[in-house]
Amino acid sequence: MNLGTPLTKIFRISPAKQKTLQRMGLLTIEDLLYHFPTRYGDFMQVNSIAELRDGDTGNIYAEVMGVRARKTFKSNIPITEAILKDGSGEELRAIWFSQPYISKMLRTGDLARFSGTVSVKKGQKMISNPEFQRVNSIPLEKSGSLFADGSKEMEMALFPIYRESGIKNGKISSKWIYHKVKKILSNRDFLENLADPIPEKILKKYKLPSLKNAFIYLHLPRKTEDGEIARKRFAFEEIFFIQLVKNIEKEKYKKSGSFIIKPNKEIQKKFLNSFDFKLTEGQSETVASILEDFKKGEPMSRLLEGDVGSGKTIVAAAAAFFTAMTKPKDQSFGRLQVAYMAPTEILAKQIFKEFIKILGSHGLQIGLLTSKDVQKFPSKINPKESTKISKKKLAEAILNGEISITVGTHALISKNIFFENLGLVIIDEQHRFGKKQRAALRSKPEEKKEAIKSGKIRKSEKILKKGLADNDNILPHLLSMTATPIPRTLALSLYGDLDLSLITDMPAGRKKVKTDIFIDSESHRKKVYGEAQKELEKGRQMYVICPRIDDPDPDKLQALNVKSAISTKASLEKDEHFKNYSIGLLHSKMKKEEKDRVMEDFLNNKYQILVSTSVVEVGVSVANATVMIIEGGERFGLSQLHQFRGRVMRSSHQPYCYIFANGKSKKTVDRLSVIKNAKNGFELAEADLKQRGAGEILGNKQSGISDLAMDALKNLKMIEAARKESELMAKNDRYQKEEELVKKLEKIKKRIYME
Ligand code: ADP
Ligand code: MG
Repeated sequence: MNLGTPLTKIFRISPAKQKTLQRMGLLTIEDLLYHFPTRYGDFMQVNSIAELRDGDTGNIYAEVMGVRARKTFKSNIPITEAILKDGSGEELRAIWFSQPYISKMLRTGDLARFSGTVSVKKGQKMISNPEFQRVNSIPLEKSGSLFADGSKEMEMALFPIYRESGIKNGKISSKWIYHKVKKILSNRDFLENLADPIPEKILKKYKLPSLKNAFIYLHLPRKTEDGEIARKRFAFEEIFFIQLVKNIEKEKYKKSGSFIIKPNKEIQKKFLNSFDFKLTEGQSETVASILEDFKKGEPMSRLLEGDVGSGKTIVAAAAAFFTAMTKPKDQSFGRLQVAYMAPTEILAKQIFKEFIKILGSHGLQIGLLTSKDVQKFPSKINPKESTKISKKKLAEAILNGEISITVGTHALISKNIFFENLGLVIIDEQHRFGKKQRAALRSKPEEKKEAIKSGKIRKSEKILKKGLADNDNILPHLLSMTATPIPRTLALSLYGDLDLSLITDMPAGRKKVKTDIFIDSESHRKKVYGEAQKELEKGRQMYVICPRIDDPDPDKLQALNVKSAISTKASLEKDEHFKNYSIGLLHSKMKKEEKDRVMEDFLNNKYQILVSTSVVEVGVSVANATVMIIEGGERFGLSQLHQFRGRVMRSSHQPYCYIFANGKSKKTVDRLSVIKNAKNGFELAEADLKQRGAGEILGNKQSGISDLAMDALKNLKMIEAARKESELMAKNDRYQKEEELVKKLEKIKKRIYME
C-alpha cells in the first residue's frame, strides 16, 4: 500500500460510491489524503440534551444508559441503539445504521462525547450516526470548566469535516471519508514508508512538518494549530512546486540562446525623438530593463504590467524598434523581425496605426495581419500611407524578412506565415498564453521548408543569393503586456518564469477619473443620469457596464439584484434623459464579428451609449467616451472596476465614473470607496487580495490552483521562501538528484499544463 494505491484495492466500495469518487477525483490514497477538510467540527462546543432542537448539530457529553443491536423490520438493516443521558437530566436516543460493531464499542455506563444531527419525532429526541469518543469524565456544566485542567480530552476535541458529494447509495459523506482516512493513517507500514517530495533540509529550514506528520495533523488534529501547521506545509508544497516547474522552464530556455540586441546611443536617441513627450519613470525603467535583457544572449521573458493608459505601447514600440534596427546573427544585411499579437482586430489596427505614427519615419516596413484586413506600410504610391495587399504577398514579404514589424491577431499563427529572423514576440493582453504563442510563432523550420518546396510560398531569389544565415532554432525574445494588475506576490508565484516590470505612474497631465459610488435608488439614478446627459450633450459618449447578460434565474435570490445588459438597455431607451441618443449592446454571447462591429460603430459614434457586460475589450481606445456607469458594482472586485473605468481615460476631457451598488449596508459602499483615491491598479489589486482572496484577481476557476494555495498567496513570506528554494533547486538541474521530488514534479506538470 502506497500513495498510488487505488482506493478500490484496499476498501470494498459499491459501484455507486465508486462513481461519485471518480467524479470527485478521488481515486487513489493520495487523492483522498489530499482531499483536505474544509473545516473542523469542535467537540468542545458542548450542548446539553435539554437544549437540543430538531435539525441542530449536537455536541454532547453523556453517559450511556443502555445499548442494543437489532435489525430493522422491513429492510433487515443492522442498527445499534443507545440511550444517552447528560447533566441536564434529559435522555436522547442515539442510533447508528449499518454499524453493528458499535454495540461492541459502547457499554452501558460509558462516558463519551457524541456529535451528530438531532431530529425530534413525536416528542422524542434522536441523534443519528453520531461520531463519538469515550472520555474519562463529563463536564458538570456545559461551559466545560472541568476541562480547564488541560486533561487529554481537551486535546482530542476536533474532527475533520470534508466536502461531500453524491446522493443516496452513492453518497460520499464527510464521515465516510473520515473513516477511510483514519484507516489509512492507522497503517504503520504505510506511514513509515511515506516518502516526502520536499527535501528534508527545506522542511527543517522553514519548520514545516514532514508529509507523514502533515497528513496526521491535517486529518486527525488534536488542536486547532495542528490543522494550521499542516495547511502551511501543503500550501508551501503547492506553491513551491508550481514555482519549481516555472523555474525549470526558465533555466531551460535560458540555455536555448537568443539574438543579442544592442542598439547604440544614436539609435536610442532616434527612438526618443520619434514622439513629442517625455517617457514616464515607469516607461524609462522598463525600457532600460529590456535593453539589459537584450544584451545577454538569452531569450528575454518579460511581463509588463501597467494600467490602461499608462503607455505600454511606447515601451513595446521601443523594443520593436531596437529589434528591427538589428541585423540577424551572422548576416551582413537585413533586420530582425518583430511579431506583435493583439487580442482583437480593432486593437491590432490601432497598434498598427500607432506604430506607423511612431516608427514610420525610420525606413521600416510594417505589416498588418488579421483574418479580414491585410496591409503593408509604406505604400509604394504614397510612402506616408499604408496600403491593402493580399495575404499571400504579405506572407512572402515576412518570409523574405522584408517586413520588420508585423502587427496582427491570432492570424499571425496561421498556416504559411513563416518568419525569417524572428527576434521579438510581443503579446498584448494575453499574458497567460505568452509562452505558448512565442513557441507557436517561432520559425518552424520543417514546415517552412515543406511550404517552400511545394510552392505554397515563394522565397525571393534575390535574397537567397545574398546568403541567409540559418537562425531558425533561435528562440525570440518575449514581451508580454497586461493591464490586469496582479500583485507582485501573485505574479511571482504564477508567472515565476517571467521577469516583471511594473509601470505604476501615469503620463503627466492625465485627468483622474472622477469616481462616485451610489446606493442604487431612484433619486441617485436621476442625479447620475442627469450628469451623464450633460456630457452626452457636449458630444461625449458613455459606457454602461452590467454584470450579467440575461435576466437572472428568479430562483436565485441574490441574482435578483443583478442588472442585465439587455434589460438595462431597454430601460435606458425609455428614459427621458437619453431619448436623443442611440444605444448599442455588447455582450459575451455575441459572435466575435458582431462584437467587433458594435465596438467599431461605437468608435465611430454611431452609438453614443454602449451598454455592455464586462466583455468590453480591454485597451480599445474610444477617446470620445468620457462617462461610465457601472451597475451592480458590489459584484466586482476593485481592480476589475478600476479596469473598467480605465476605458474612459483616453481623452483630454474630464472623465467620470458612476458606480451603483446594491446593498443596504454602508459597508458595501465603504469597501468600494477605496477606488476613489487609489493611485493605480496595483494598490487596488493588493486590496482585493486582502479583502477577497486571490481568486478574485485571477478569476476563480482559471488558474488551476487549489483554494488552499490561493489562500496562502496572501502570505508574502511563504511565497518568497518557496521562490528562493525553487530557484535554487532549478539551478544546474539540482532537482534531478531528488528522486521523490522529480516524481511529484511530473504529476504537477501534468496538472499545470492540463489547463
Ligand atoms: P496602454 O498602456 O493602455 O497600452 P497606451 O500605450 O495606449 O496605453 O498609451 C495611452 C496614451 O498615452 C497614448 O495616446 C500615448 O500616446 C500616450 N502616452 C504614452 N506615454 C506617454 C507619456 N510618457 N507622456 C504623454 N503621453 C503618453
Ligand atoms: Mg495597450
